[in-house]
Amino acid sequence: MKRMEPIRKYAQLRKADTDEGELSLINAQSLRPLSAEEVFTFRLAACNDQVDRDFERFPEQTLEDFARLFTGRPVLMDHQWSAGSQTARVYAAAVEDMPGVPGGKQLVLRCYMPRLRGNADTIAAIEAGLLRECSVGVAVKRAVCSVCGKDNRLRVCEHRGGQIYQGQACHFDLEGAADVYEVSLVAVPAQPDAGIIKSKRYGGAEPTPPAGPEPWQDQALLELEKNRF
Ligand SMILES: [Zn+2]
Repeated sequence: MKRMEPIRKYAQLRKADTDEGELSLINAQSLRPLSAEEVFTFRLAACNDQVDRDFERFPEQTLEDFARLFTGRPVLMDHQWSAGSQTARVYAAAVEDMPGVPGGKQLVLRCYMPRLRGNADTIAAIEAGLLRECSVGVAVKRAVCSVCGKDNRLRVCEHRGGQIYQGQACHFDLEGAADVYEVSLVAVPAQPDAGIIKSKRYGGAEPTPPAGPEPWQDQALLELEKNRF
């Protein structure tokens, strides 16, 4: 069986408000209770159940599985695993209706970052709309052809995504959430239409999560201690 390949999808970031319910979810992730004034929160529409430009889609069940796996994960900058890039964390995730797409479902990651001096530039960039896209790296167990039902992770079938077979358009359902590797904030290119807004990472070395105590938490705690005195 082929090894599970990480898939990366790009999506959008939105600012969010923090109420008491959200704050209790954040505090389930933080090392000490944080007040609403101490956290900056935002929402990431990470991926959805629509057929994408690669003629793939995540069924709702896959999105539900991703929601469980993403909670507690760090939000990175530009796919780096270095401690300095861990600016935010996913404190809750849920499948929601897609605005403007009847019946469409999307995975929304709710994220927070402490309002520390070291995060001020990142927060300003989000508020200014400079950092408003994200990419997710995920792995699924199956890629099921919509025409013949074959799992193309096991054996590639004769159907091509986007082609019409007896009136039915072929796409691949990405089923069986195996893991989530990362969610990263991405700077928007200077030219709005420049470059690719979705890419995938197939093969090659996978990023290695940091070992031992999570450096982001250590750094955050240190900064909070400094701020207290
Ligand atoms: Zn097929």
